[in-house]
Amino acid sequence: MSGRLSGRVALISGAASGMGASHARAFVEHGAHVVLGDIADEAGGELAAELGEAAVYVHLDVTQAADWAAAVAEAVERFGGLNVLVNNAGILDGGPLGTYTEQQWRRILDINLTGAFLGLSAARDALVAARPSSVINISSAAGMQGVAGMHGYTASKYGLRGLTKSAALELAADGVRVNSVHPGAVLTPMIAGMAAEYGVSQVDRTQSTLTRMALPEEVTALVVYLASEESSFSTGAEFLVDGGMTAGPS
Ligand code: NAD
Repeated sequence: MSGRLSGRVALISGAASGMGASHARAFVEHGAHVVLGDIADEAGGELAAELGEAAVYVHLDVTQAADWAAAVAEAVERFGGLNVLVNNAGILDGGPLGTYTEQQWRRILDINLTGAFLGLSAARDALVAARPSSVINISSAAGMQGVAGMHGYTASKYGLRGLTKSAALELAADGVRVNSVHPGAVLTPMIAGMAAEYGVSQVDRTQSTLTRMALPEEVTALVVYLASEESSFSTGAEFLVDGGMTAGPS
């Protein structure tokens, strides 16, 4: 154990699957205590059992302020505070204008963007109390450039960028840094779902200048850095981990 995250207590939303689960495993390996939040209770409970006493699972629907309040309280009561928040939960959908519904639009903004706002709001006082603290908002390469037919997803991920900056400016003096992470295509259940729904060609298109997708661990390496004080001079910043996807046309 390297101890890079010793003394850190983290709350990760969407921790039961994909990148969230990868972040949780690495956080514990590096010495952190972790509250795993998700709506996938079975998978979340299994991950908590795997990680042992350093982790606990809570049911957290990121669209529900009361769930956020309970998750923050769990971190404080069980592990003595909260100094890392990873707003990772998200969904992906798409469809052309005229077909993509208002209901889809509202739902994805509610989960991907309002969820992070509610998390920041609920965790603010605990993060300040346990300073120095770090908030990591998981945006996307789709928060840096448009993706045709993915209107709600793209808007939600651009929105996270803006929320990151307003929160970073407000909380800097209180010892809380806030940054956004922008992964390209990463091999997780989310991408597998997209392949099934939209066809393999869509997934091919999301490959990178490095001509492959990332493994979750390649994003986790950046998230561990941002969660630690190794990144102490970074706030309000955008961190790309996209295999060169947004560098320009290949
Ligand atoms: P994933 O589908 O494997 O995991 C997402 C998790 O979020 C799931 O466990 C799911 O149960 C949870 N979740 C969904 N709705 C929720 C809600 N209302 N409340 C709480 N939890 C909820 O996806 P992933 O690929 O690991 O994605 C993680 C994050 O990374 C997402 O924000 C996603 O948009 C972003 N991202 C993913 C990719 C990629 O290629 N996979 C690329 C860029 C950004």
